[in-house]
Amino acid sequence: MSHRRALVLGALAASLCLPSTAFGLDEVNSKKLRDAVTVNGILQHERALQAVANANGGTRASGTPGYEASLQYVKQRLVKAGYRVKEQEFTFPFFRELAPATAAQLSPTPKDYTVDTFEYSGSGDVTANVQAVRGITIPPPAVPGTTPAGCTAADFTGFTAGNIALIQRGTCDFGLKARNAKAAGAVGVIIFNEGQEGRTGLPAGTLGEPIDIPVVGMTFADGAAIYQQLQGGATVKLHITTSTEADLDATTKNLIADTKTGNADETVVVGGHLDSVVEGPGINDNGSGTSAILEIAEAMSEQKIKPRRAVRFAFWGAEESGLLGSEHYVTTLPADDLTKIYANLNFDMVGSPNYARFVYDGDGSDSEPAGPPGSGEIESVFTKYFAGQGLASEPTEFSGRSDYGPFIAVGIPAGGLFTGAEGIKTAEQATKYGGTAGVAFDPCYHQACDTINNLSTNALNEMGDAAAHATLVLAKSKSGLFPDGSRKAARDKSKAKKFGSDHAR
Ligand SMILES: [Zn+2]
Repeated sequence: MSHRRALVLGALAASLCLPSTAFGLDEVNSKKLRDAVTVNGILQHERALQAVANANGGTRASGTPGYEASLQYVKQRLVKAGYRVKEQEFTFPFFRELAPATAAQLSPTPKDYTVDTFEYSGSGDVTANVQAVRGITIPPPAVPGTTPAGCTAADFTGFTAGNIALIQRGTCDFGLKARNAKAAGAVGVIIFNEGQEGRTGLPAGTLGEPIDIPVVGMTFADGAAIYQQLQGGATVKLHITTSTEADLDATTKNLIADTKTGNADETVVVGGHLDSVVEGPGINDNGSGTSAILEIAEAMSEQKIKPRRAVRFAFWGAEESGLLGSEHYVTTLPADDLTKIYANLNFDMVGSPNYARFVYDGDGSDSEPAGPPGSGEIESVFTKYFAGQGLASEPTEFSGRSDYGPFIAVGIPAGGLFTGAEGIKTAEQATKYGGTAGVAFDPCYHQACDTINNLSTNALNEMGDAAAHATLVLAKSKSGLFPDGSRKAARDKSKAKKFGSDHAR
C-alpha cells in the first residue's frame, strides 16, 4: 500500500467516524492549481511592481503615489478575474526621511558615526551629553530580543533632562524605549543594535507613532564603545541631526477581493502586505507575496475552482508602518463578521535571494507563542506538503513582525511562509536550502536594492506552489480545523481552559 493512499484512507476513516474525530484538514490534490501558478506568472507581476516603483521615485510605500499605482494594478487584475473587489481606506501617520540622519561625538573623542533615522522620529538638531539608561547588557545576552534596556520608566532613574539617551535594542518595541526617554526629558535618543549575530548593523525600524525628538539607530559596535566610555567615567558630548516629515492623517488603503462562491461563514483570508518601505521598491518585501497571492487568485479563477469555504484575498497597506492595514481591518470588522474569519494565511517575503523555507510555527513546537487553536494544523499542511515534495523546511516564530499578528491577537488561527530577511543563513541551512552560509537571507532587506534583481526564482517557485497548496486545502477541505468545525467552539473551549474556574465565578 503506498504512503499517499494510506494517508487518504486514514482521513477517510476519520471522516466516517463520529464527528468528534472528523477534524484535521484532509488531503486535497492541488497539482492542477500548482501547475498553473508559475514562476513566470509571479515574475510578470513583480516586473509590473518594479515598473510602478520606477515611475514613482523608487518606492511603493503607503502614502505615496507608488502605493496607489500598485493597488490599482492588483485591483484591475482581480476585477478582470471576476472577484468582488473593494478598497478599504484608512488614515495612518505617514513618515518620510527628508535627509539622512547624522551623529558625531564632539568630545572627548571627535568621531562621526553612521546612523539611521527611526520611522516617526521627529526632526531635530541637538547637541548634548549622552547618558546610558539602565538595562544595557554588554556583552549581549545569548538570546536575541531579551535585553530590557529602556523598557520601563524605572530604567531612567537618575536621567538628567536635556541629555541624549543611549539605549540598547532588545525585548520591547523601539517606540516604547523612545517614549520612555522623552518622558524622562531626553532631547534625543540613540538606540544601538543588540549585538548578537545578525543584530549588529544599523537597526532599521519604526517607533509606531510620531515623536517630536530625534531618534536614531546606531550599530552595536559604536553604541557599545560609547557605553564603555561612559562606564569609564567620560562625559561624552554628541551632536545628532534628523530631518523628517510626518503626516499624522495620511490616507492609504487595503485591497480586499472575495470569491463569489464558498461558505462565507468560514472565510479564509489569504493576505500579504502590498506596501514597501520608503527607502526602496520592495520587490521581495513584499512584491513576492503580493505577486504569489495574485497569481494564485488568477489561477483559481481561470480553473473555475469552487471553494467550499469563501476565500478573501487581502493586500494590506501600511504594514511597514507597524501592521497598520491588517490591524485596521481586524479591529474595524464587526464582531459578527470577525467570527466568520476561519483562518488567516500570510505570505510576506517568499522570494529571498539566499532563502530558507520557513513555516510559521503554529503549534509553538520551537518558539513562543504558539498560534491560536488550529494554527498547528495549518503549519502541518505546509510541512506535510514540503515533505511530500522532498523539500526540507523549518519552523519560524510568530514574532509579530507581519500581518498575521492582528489575526492571532483575536484568536484566529494563522499560518504562512517566509524565506528570511536580515537573519544570517547558517551552515546547516546552507546544506538544506543551498545558497551561502554567513550571509543574510535577503541582503537587500528594506533597502533601495530590493529590486527585481533581488529574487530567487527557486524560492518563488517552491513557495508559490506551497502557498497555492495551502490555500486550496483550506478552501476545499471537507473536514476542518476544529472538532466541531467551528472556531467559536474552539475559542470558547480555550478561553474556558485558560480562565479555569475563576472564569466560572
Ligand atoms: Zn514585509
